[in-house]
Amino acid sequence: MKKYIYLSLLLFLSQFSVAQTFDLQRVEPLSWWVGMKNPNLQLLVYGKNIADSKVELNYEGVKIESVTKVENPNYLFLNLVIAPETKAGTFKITFTKSKKEIVSYDYVLQAREANSALRKGFDASDVVYLIMPDRFANGNPNNDNMPGMLEKANREDPNGRHGGDLQGIIEKLDYLADLGVTSLWLNPVQENNMAKYSYHGYAISDMYKIDSRFGDNNLYKEFVKKAQSKGLSVVMDLVFNHLATEHFTLKDRPMRNWVHEYPDFKRTSYRGSLIADPYSSQADKSTMLGGWFDYTMGDLDQRNPLVANYLIQASIWWVEFSGINAIRMDTQVYPYKEFMSDWAKAVRNEYPNFSLVGEVWIEQASHLSYFQSDANNLDGYQSNLTSLTDFAMKIAVQYAFNEEDSWNGGLLRLFNLLGEDFLYSKPNDLLIFLDNHDISRYYSVIGQDIRKMKMATAFLLTTRGVPQLYYGGEVLSFGNEHEGHGFIRKDFEGGWAGDANNTFAKTGRNDLQNEYFDYLKTLLNWRKGNKVVAYGKLTHFLPENNLYVYFKELDGKAVMVILNNHDKEDKKLGNVQRYMEVLGKYKKGKNVVTGEKISNFTEIKIPAKSAVVFELE
Ligand code: CA
Repeated sequence: MKKYIYLSLLLFLSQFSVAQTFDLQRVEPLSWWVGMKNPNLQLLVYGKNIADSKVELNYEGVKIESVTKVENPNYLFLNLVIAPETKAGTFKITFTKSKKEIVSYDYVLQAREANSALRKGFDASDVVYLIMPDRFANGNPNNDNMPGMLEKANREDPNGRHGGDLQGIIEKLDYLADLGVTSLWLNPVQENNMAKYSYHGYAISDMYKIDSRFGDNNLYKEFVKKAQSKGLSVVMDLVFNHLATEHFTLKDRPMRNWVHEYPDFKRTSYRGSLIADPYSSQADKSTMLGGWFDYTMGDLDQRNPLVANYLIQASIWWVEFSGINAIRMDTQVYPYKEFMSDWAKAVRNEYPNFSLVGEVWIEQASHLSYFQSDANNLDGYQSNLTSLTDFAMKIAVQYAFNEEDSWNGGLLRLFNLLGEDFLYSKPNDLLIFLDNHDISRYYSVIGQDIRKMKMATAFLLTTRGVPQLYYGGEVLSFGNEHEGHGFIRKDFEGGWAGDANNTFAKTGRNDLQNEYFDYLKTLLNWRKGNKVVAYGKLTHFLPENNLYVYFKELDGKAVMVILNNHDKEDKKLGNVQRYMEVLGKYKKGKNVVTGEKISNFTEIKIPAKSAVVFELE
């Protein structure tokens, strides 16, 4: 009897010690949901020599259809099928070797939030505000440096981490709602545990974890809920082209074709236009698609179905977990386009009203248009993307207000650009912007001329598309890209305790900043909920004498915009005969900024380098 007890104790202890020492390092996705349209779920399991274990689970409605072993014995991929009637709950996945359990894992299947599948993305009635989270507001100085994170905060270094975080953004939600924007796009907030340049977010070292210097997963979820409660939808930035070299799958690769591998470092050509080019060579395409974006960014091979599933599931996990409304996909044209199409289709299959905006940094409409869903492409390519970053318009606005009109210059750039909209399946869904985190601040582009700044803003908020603003633009932040990215991603003054000026408040802004801020805020709040400017039929008239006139019309109402691009001459609209096909239907108008009322359209005054916006009835 005594001997028996001793033996079983030994047995128990040995099992216990094996179970305790086995380090099941990862199971991803972290959790899943019942009631998804796609019943399949592929779990990545990571642990030392996990591949030679037997896997079992016992839960009604869930079965292991197959187990995929790969070159690296530290990985297993479990292919699960979740039947439609499956109840939410937790099931144990057990891993056994030689009939002994080495470890088990409690996997959670949650119930979906009501209407999560119907979540609505953004459209032309929205204005998106882009925030670089490290540079906006430091709501929690205690998380500036975190254990295990390689890079420490250093506000003196333009390329270093400055300490901005989710708490800081949460504390400014009222400011943002009051400004009049309706959607927030944050540069990636997933963990970027890199030794240098980790602040921008584009080298993700953990797909399932908010960087601890920004907060945690639950704080992100809280941010989304609070933003939505104030009428602000949320756009999550994701990267599918690469993972940081600090990501566990890069440090211990599951197989050779997880990322593109070469004997020496091979860089992408960054030539996105090759992807739509009907004549491009395989050699050029493989450099573009298979070359690495940078040394620290492992270039994923999305032709590998395990890579593809890993990425697609991660994006769906964030949508369902956090309640976001849209995804902005970084470096859209760098992964294989067939995979990107499958990804977008999978997301929209689960969330039909969701928005997916691809960062397509190609500066010609003819190339951009190839990547929007339902494009009329020669090769039949269907991207399934709802929106694209309109870099063709970026080029046009960069020059238009710095030039007087010529055959192709000045306002003709805007007119000609919009004239190419026949190329797009949905031009009004394109994301349009004056600047973003990768290009010079627009205030610097136009030589810090507030007249041009206001004029360009009026154009952006009244032409077709979904306007996107860049944090700090409202207080005339400036900086050129060629000085270094730190100069176009400066801290929002007032976001850190002890800043000299709090430019979040009127009293902390100078007169010029307040002049622009008030102008922008007036236009944004007028635009909010205005269906005519968002969805109205656009009619524009060929610019003449530096005057560009256009209208948006809907349900018997119209918005009239006039841009005067002359540097010195104040103008009157004058002879309105040309505009009568639209103007003839209306009797009076009101200037949406000044409140001035007019009934004689010929008398409308447009000062040099300015825009006027009228509502007509
Ligand atoms: Ca902080």
